[in-house]
Amino acid sequence: MKPLPKVNIDDRIFTLKYYVDEEYVHLKIKNPKICKSCLEKPCLSFCPAGVYRLDRQGEITVGYQACVECGSCRVACPYLNIEWDYPRGGYGVAYKFG
Ligand code: SF4
Ligand code: SF4
Repeated sequence: MKPLPKVNIDDRIFTLKYYVDEEYVHLKIKNPKICKSCLEKPCLSFCPAGVYRLDRQGEITVGYQACVECGSCRVACPYLNIEWDYPRGGYGVAYKFG
């Protein structure tokens, strides 16, 4: 079988276009206290777009504007502590193929 070509995720993400909805946040942490007790914090690594970050106070921040709508965080947060929705119509990521 022919090997798959190497893909650089940063190069791919660079080609995306975002229509940011400033009035509707489609990703939220349900309960910040649960994040405090989540020791591994896998959201910091499973999101391909780096949406989840740790601030100086040790709180998880959510940069929803960069979400590529892959859906991983719906299932990969061990405490199902992320409220997930699609962006409203006309907003969100736009993929360019070819
Ligand atoms: S993986 Fe889930 S519970 Fe853990 S820090 Fe991230 S959002 Fe919070
Ligand atoms: S849907 Fe994908 S890109 Fe968006 S925040 Fe969740 S893991 Fe990150």
